[in-house]
Amino acid sequence: MAVPQPRVRYYLHGRGELAHEKNIESITVSIETAGNAPVVAKSDVVIVGGGSAGVTAAVSAARNGCSVTLVERYHHLGGMASGGMVLVLDDMVNGQEIVVAGIVEEFVQRMAKEDMAVFPPEDDRYASDEMYRKWARWGVHDFHQAKKPQPIVYAVAFDPDAWKRTSLDLIRENDINLRLHSWFSDAIVEDGRIRGVVCQTKMGRQAILGDIVIDTSGDLDVACSAGAEFSQGQYIVTTVFRLANVDTDEAMRFEYEEPEEFAKVNREARRIIGGAWEMWWLRTPIPGVVWCNCPHMPGYDGITVEDLTAAEYEGRDRMMGLFEYVKGNMPGFEHANMLGAAEQVGVRTTRMLQGEYVVTKDDVISRRYFSDTVCRGRDYYTPYRALLPTKVDQLIVAGRHYSAEPEAQKRSREIPPCMAQGEVAGIAASLALQHDTLIRDVDVRKIQNQMRKQGADPGDVPSANATDVGDRAVNQ
Ligand SMILES: Cc1cc2nc3c(=O)[nH]c(=O)nc-3n(C[C@H](O)[C@H](O)[C@H](O)COP(=O)(O)OP(=O)(O)OC[C@H]3O[C@@H](n4cnc5c(N)ncnc54)[C@H](O)[C@@H]3O)c2cc1C
Repeated sequence: MAVPQPRVRYYLHGRGELAHEKNIESITVSIETAGNAPVVAKSDVVIVGGGSAGVTAAVSAARNGCSVTLVERYHHLGGMASGGMVLVLDDMVNGQEIVVAGIVEEFVQRMAKEDMAVFPPEDDRYASDEMYRKWARWGVHDFHQAKKPQPIVYAVAFDPDAWKRTSLDLIRENDINLRLHSWFSDAIVEDGRIRGVVCQTKMGRQAILGDIVIDTSGDLDVACSAGAEFSQGQYIVTTVFRLANVDTDEAMRFEYEEPEEFAKVNREARRIIGGAWEMWWLRTPIPGVVWCNCPHMPGYDGITVEDLTAAEYEGRDRMMGLFEYVKGNMPGFEHANMLGAAEQVGVRTTRMLQGEYVVTKDDVISRRYFSDTVCRGRDYYTPYRALLPTKVDQLIVAGRHYSAEPEAQKRSREIPPCMAQGEVAGIAASLALQHDTLIRDVDVRKIQNQMRKQGADPGDVPSANATDVGDRAVNQ
């Protein structure tokens, strides 16, 4: 079979030949691609980004009757939840009330069957020294509470490869057309309406057409390319890594039975890694394997080649420094092995949509309720408008780049709420197609009803601690 070759012509602007030019910043290379990427797929819904939000969106759209193509740049699904090795599902509860369920719960059940998901039983979910000691090193304590000991809540520690397997299983079972190794490059937009996407692959550029496109790239790649408004956020990045052969029982004995010595060693460990949460190591379902949610590396832009490359060097240098120190100084870590860094550097925030509504820090902190709430996380509510760009039709976003102020996103971007947004986007796409309407005009009550039918919580019934239940103007 002939490999389709994009017709590419290069123009050099600036003085001299590229090879001889010292100051490359003075050169621009224009690449004229002749818009002839072959169409390799066409479906009702095209989803870009196979992270937790993207896989959930794909499953949700397919179960609601849509043909779906899911595009992912890497060889695995899961995004931060697998390749980034972010291994706790949290923000699922408001007090003891579980507020994120639906497809995320299917992930948990499937992984639990393989013993690859660990969560505290209901009887253990309360505040006491005993429960804290039993469960906190799984990362399932409510760290938003200032009062110690923090209560144990419903949260789930899981294995990254189990997440990848579960994602693939769900995609296959729901007849979703999965295209890995495909880097989204351009949105196809006609008269303000998105028609599909172009991806860069080893086979050249390929076009995928769809009636509705869901952007779950985490960095808002599609919406930006399509001309949607966005803001630029930035926060610490982290090269998560795992250590094996850790005697976690001994490490916890040291922590609780020699608290002064522990505090000294732990302080030094955190100084060496250069920025880490108090609980910088957490248990995983594999005995003796812990994941380290550190270092904190500020000042990196999570979408530039230069910064992402530099972060790989810095992250690995720092993790080796910590590893050497704890091996020599922290009881329980004497025989530890470096299992390796996550496949992707952990990026929390880059570009974010400025959509029909921009969720504010105050909305999140004050637990503001919206009558077009379609999903929620912890004690905050997400209005449907925060998934919709203002200028581009038939495009919707879900996940960490949703329409929020950076300070709001910082408090509301955990994996389960990102998945809940994906579930909403899949339902909304299906409703728009069924009713032949623009996705921005879909009846929010229908989304809420379907979320409920799928076992998810649309957040339409505010909890007792919600505020502003009278709401602002909405699009219903
Ligand atoms: C270090 C760290 C610790 C965290 N701790 C926690 C925690 O303990 N618990 C928790 O719940 N949350 C935590 N979070 C937050 C959470 O992990 C993320 O916000 C969430 O996973 C985002 O999911 P997403 O699907 O929106 O984006 P992502 O997981 O980033 O997925 C985006 C997907 O799109 C793909 N993609 C991107 N661009 C393209 C392109 N151009 N073409 C094709 N594919 C593309 C990516 O490869 C990826 O698969 C943490 C985050 C970090 C970084």
